[in-house]
Amino acid sequence: MTSNFTRFASWWGTLALRLTAGYALAGLLMVLVSTAGLYFVLVTELERSTDLFLADKLNVIRTMLRERPDDLDALREEVELESAARRYEQFYIRLLDARNAPFMSTPGMTELLDLQHFPTQDQISPGRALPMMGKDGRPFRVTSAAVPVGSPPAATDTIEVAIDVSQKEELLARYRHWFGVILLGSLFIFPLVGYQIARQGIRPVEEIADTARHISSTNLHERILPEGYPSELASLAGTFNQMLDRLEESFERISRFSADIAHDLRTPVNNIRGEAEVALARARSVDEYREVLGSCLEEAVRLSHLISDLLFLARAESPLAHLRWAPVDVCELLSSVRDYYEGAAAERGISLTTANGHGLVVAEMDRTLMQRAVGNLVANAVAHTPPGGSVIMQAESEGDSVRIAVADTGAGIPPEALPRVFDRFFRVDKSRSQASGGTGLGLSIVQSIMVLHGGNAEISSQLGHGTRLTLHLPTSHPT
Ligand code: ADP
Repeated sequence: MTSNFTRFASWWGTLALRLTAGYALAGLLMVLVSTAGLYFVLVTELERSTDLFLADKLNVIRTMLRERPDDLDALREEVELESAARRYEQFYIRLLDARNAPFMSTPGMTELLDLQHFPTQDQISPGRALPMMGKDGRPFRVTSAAVPVGSPPAATDTIEVAIDVSQKEELLARYRHWFGVILLGSLFIFPLVGYQIARQGIRPVEEIADTARHISSTNLHERILPEGYPSELASLAGTFNQMLDRLEESFERISRFSADIAHDLRTPVNNIRGEAEVALARARSVDEYREVLGSCLEEAVRLSHLISDLLFLARAESPLAHLRWAPVDVCELLSSVRDYYEGAAAERGISLTTANGHGLVVAEMDRTLMQRAVGNLVANAVAHTPPGGSVIMQAESEGDSVRIAVADTGAGIPPEALPRVFDRFFRVDKSRSQASGGTGLGLSIVQSIMVLHGGNAEISSQLGHGTRLTLHLPTSHPT
């Protein structure tokens, strides 16, 4: 019982039900308004035709009296016999002289109507009639007019005309009955039709919800086919599909990333294990142990760099990443990076210089992070530039942003590799980079730092001629 009620309550809360109720109510209201309107028109038209008939009768008698005032037989025939010949729409006429004495009347009129209370001329507007109840409860419409009918004729003589409208009342009663039947039928039919329309309308929404419900990481390739959907829902389905595209891409990136992490962690661990196993296989001299330990330490350092890079990227992506913002003289920052890498560059026979423009270039940033980003660029440039080459660092203001460029005259990057250099673990030449200690995370870290600063990193390169990395960052702290 309770569960039925809960089911009903939840169904009541559904869009389908609300739409059904809306459609049904609108349909019922339409039927109600149109039947009531039709009924009103019918009543008015019937009254109008009855009133015209009565006005016509008055006119006939008036004309007879004017054209043939002495032809009492014709008048009697009109007043006493004409109505008797009718089966339906029986009418009654009474002629009264100036003293209100009946002069001529249709037989039976006195028995049917309370003539004492017949409406007087001044109660009736010209051309119209009034309703009056007969003594036996039958409905009549009655009218009267001043026509000189007595002998001698006087202006205050009166003609009273009444017509039995019970046939028309019955007709109206039949109409009311059928309107009632139609309304009752509508009470059943409209909710059914409304429910069908509502179901039809929300079917695509249910399909979208259904797809959303059963999508998981294993079937992210599934999409909604918005064929036959109305344009609003087709665009909703399109947006949903786009969201799935993005999710699928992110999932693929994450699983590629996990595979790369596993691979990059496995290599140094395997090396350490291999060297240790070989060393322990038999007794070794102190120098041999020293060599093995040295090589293990090298691998351990590689591992710890890799782990700290990964940790850095994870923290940079966290919405809680916290930056220590401060205004920094960018030229001074480049000089400090140059000082740090100068020795390594000189050792490789590479000239490392700063070529700063005129004036002070200041931007709000986290100095340590930005130093790391520029340092990564310089380290890459020095690593990929042959002896005799040069690396130039430059800072320039451009409107409300600052541009930092690191350009080298090194090996360059093939055009097909350029779009991927900011991807994690991407290395153009795997073997060479790994040998030189590159983790493939350097440029990803640069990109993350730039995103944290509300800026971005760009690369351009010419194979065999050199590479230029440009960092754009806003001068003031993005809010
Ligand atoms: P890595 O740690 O291997 O240097 P990065 O993310 O810093 O990884 O760089 C990705 C790849 O881009 C590098 O493996 C290298 O092949 C290429 N690269 C980066 N900077 C340069 C450069 N200045 N000149 C040539 N190749 C570069």
